[in-house]
Amino acid sequence: PLPVDIYPNRRNSAGVDIADPLVREKLSEELEFWRQDDPLAAPTLRADAGGKALPVLAPQSGKRVGSWMPASERDVDLAIARAVAAQPTWDAMGGAARAALLDRASDLLEANTARLIDLCRREAGKTVMDGVLEVREAVDFLRYYACEARMLFGAPQPLPGPTGETNLLRLHGRGVFATISPWNFPLAIFMGPAAAALAAGNTVLAKPAEQTPLIAALAIDLCHQAGIPKDVLQFVPGDGEVGAALTSDPRIAGVAFTGSTGTAHAINRSLAAREGAIGTLIAETGGQNALIVDSSALPEQVTRDVIASAFQSAGQRCSALRVLFIQDDVADDMVRMIKGAFESLVIGDPARLETDVGPVIDAEAREKLQNHVEEMHAEGFPVWRLALPTECENGHFVAPTIIEIGSILDLDEEQFGPILHIVRYPVGTMRQVIDDINATGYGLTLGLHSRIAETREFVESHARVGNFYVNRNQIGAVVGSQPFGGEGLSGTGPKAGGPHYVTRFATERVTTIDT
Ligand code: GLU
Repeated sequence: PLPVDIYPNRRNSAGVDIADPLVREKLSEELEFWRQDDPLAAPTLRADAGGKALPVLAPQSGKRVGSWMPASERDVDLAIARAVAAQPTWDAMGGAARAALLDRASDLLEANTARLIDLCRREAGKTVMDGVLEVREAVDFLRYYACEARMLFGAPQPLPGPTGETNLLRLHGRGVFATISPWNFPLAIFMGPAAAALAAGNTVLAKPAEQTPLIAALAIDLCHQAGIPKDVLQFVPGDGEVGAALTSDPRIAGVAFTGSTGTAHAINRSLAAREGAIGTLIAETGGQNALIVDSSALPEQVTRDVIASAFQSAGQRCSALRVLFIQDDVADDMVRMIKGAFESLVIGDPARLETDVGPVIDAEAREKLQNHVEEMHAEGFPVWRLALPTECENGHFVAPTIIEIGSILDLDEEQFGPILHIVRYPVGTMRQVIDDINATGYGLTLGLHSRIAETREFVESHARVGNFYVNRNQIGAVVGSQPFGGEGLSGTGPKAGGPHYVTRFATERVTTIDT
């Protein structure tokens, strides 16, 4: 096995300690300063002069917080051509030189933390705490993949030559990668896949989610300031049509996508339908994540972790808890405690530091979540909803909700928001619980609260999930420590922030030299 710490000199970002009143005050002042900013996100290279700017709307208020210009068909075509032309030089630079630029970009991102948090909050409706974590994770991805670039893309790996020849294995970029990112981590998961692709020697066309182009544009600008050439990393904002223009073009060697399972299938079909080179797909998609609580669990700890896993980031994480399984003989007490904590959640404007739950991303998301709650209610499942304060009237807020259901299989799809389902299971039916979780077809995160080693071992060996968390919450995977990603309907792997990620962006070449 690899050593526990592959990169002993690598450090994750310290972030911003908002529990410290002095740090908090300084951050508040900086956020206030940036609030006046009127950013514009536009493609790195424009083939078309002009074009109409569209508004970016804050989910919490519906107000315009900036504008963006989607890439035109000609912009996409030009961007691909420039990326193809730039790739051999970028690849030939070698891992160490690329790593230096990625490290410099990570420093610039860190130095612009307040500005990035402000954009996270304004266009994605994220709380300040979520913004802090988001910037940290983006910085960590850049630094981790820089380490990978140094280690994997330096000197070739010699291999045995039993008949006297020399064998050398080298890793290279595959070509041009399109990275298609989600709005729920508009910085971290925008930068992460792009950084990995760059580390491996690919040039990158980075498409942010159409809801969150502003923070992405700033991140690209900072990368360019760090010295990453403009043709090597290009910003290509747009909707699904721009995504389709990228994935259907045979000049694109691979796609790194994070989003819904349905869109991942569509991208896969688009890659398969092309003539020419066979495209690579790296997809990180949804989940139907469960947490199992047995009678040996500590109720206070369970309560804290359930609330964080289900409601932090308004439940808009792939990793978030959707279905809580509680052993029935302790369920009444556990549910009472969880509801107590649930009722004290502060919902509202993410501009306030004390807000726990902000808005969901847009009207469509809100409607889908509300329809789900109404349907479950109509079917007779017991529902608890928090009241929304009046300040939420103009935004896309969904009241945090708990629904008691009979089985995880009562749910047909992931509900990407602040909705927690609870299932009570009889003691002695753990096998059935795991079978039901596996039967959803998803395999992203799973939590277990239990002090019984045999239970942990049983769950660990039977559950088909990518990230298994024991006696803690199940969100916020840390780069380098908890590589993140799932299987089945949850994605292709490899895991982001882990030692097998960057190699998937690379192609292998072997040279054999005889005397
Ligand atoms: N990596 C994040 C976490 O562990 C989730 C990523 C996502 O939502 O796509 O919470």
